[in-house]
Amino acid sequence: MNDGETIPQMGFGLWQVPGDQTARVVGEGLAEGYRLVDGAAIYGNEEGLGAGMRQPGVARDAVFVTTKVWNDDQGYDATLRAFDASARRTGLDRFDLYLIHWPCAANGLFVDSWRAMIRLREEGRVTSIGVSNFGADHLARLVAETAVTPALNQIELHPFLQQAALRKTHADMGIITQSWTPLGQGLAFDAAPVRSIAARLGASPAQVILAWHLALGCSVIPRSTRRAGLAENLQAGSLALTAEDLTALATLDRGQRLGPDPAVFS
Ligand code: NAD
Repeated sequence: MNDGETIPQMGFGLWQVPGDQTARVVGEGLAEGYRLVDGAAIYGNEEGLGAGMRQPGVARDAVFVTTKVWNDDQGYDATLRAFDASARRTGLDRFDLYLIHWPCAANGLFVDSWRAMIRLREEGRVTSIGVSNFGADHLARLVAETAVTPALNQIELHPFLQQAALRKTHADMGIITQSWTPLGQGLAFDAAPVRSIAARLGASPAQVILAWHLALGCSVIPRSTRRAGLAENLQAGSLALTAEDLTALATLDRGQRLGPDPAVFS
């Protein structure tokens, strides 16, 4: 990343993972070989994330843990308090990556939150800081006002929303693109290019789509509560797509958001 730290390219996400299953999912994901876990305060399962990290055989420093400050905790002091609450719930005294979950630009607080994140990094309580759902205008404002560029922007990205312009902005600014809802609710599983590549490689549609994210250079955090699903997704890292495959998959873009529009979501 632009701060000299490294992030595993593939991880798994914890959105909608029930609190009483989160420790199991984290433990199974790490046992399968993942080294990146994507959490957030709003997911309501940070206690389970922490419990998963305390299971035997898990070395804290071998795992990259992300969490995020939720929208109603924006502002300088509120973000510092939200961080303390996430640390308390997980039992972790340091996160590898702390993200502003949404810009909520209408509230006018994301730059204040960013200043708090910079302080948390200076204090060593987070190793890297980044954002989520930020547009090019929000990114430019952070840099103009604080001179600190986020290490990463986690955005909605899947075959039906390929985000070429924002990926280019990230590349120009040295920001890692991380894809959320990378499987796009399965909507592209039956698309012809996905089907034919999957058949040729003897892979599943989900694996083809995840391999496409990796080929784009994105970090990717699919979610599965099933151990077999976690394993299947991680194995996408060994698929090799060709330039022709990437050209065929590029045709699927239709600018379709499945989540809220970050320009207006508050
Ligand atoms: P996803 O694209 O990972 O899809 C999850 C769905 O696909 C689940 O229903 C799961 O059962 C199914 N699935 C998983 N593996 C499969 C496979 N191999 N074959 C068939 N189906 C499979 O969706 P997501 O959870 O929305 O996104 C992933 C992660 O991104 C989240 O868990 C969360 O950590 C993060 N996220 C972040 C934001 C944000 O605003 N920053 C928003 C949404 C999600």
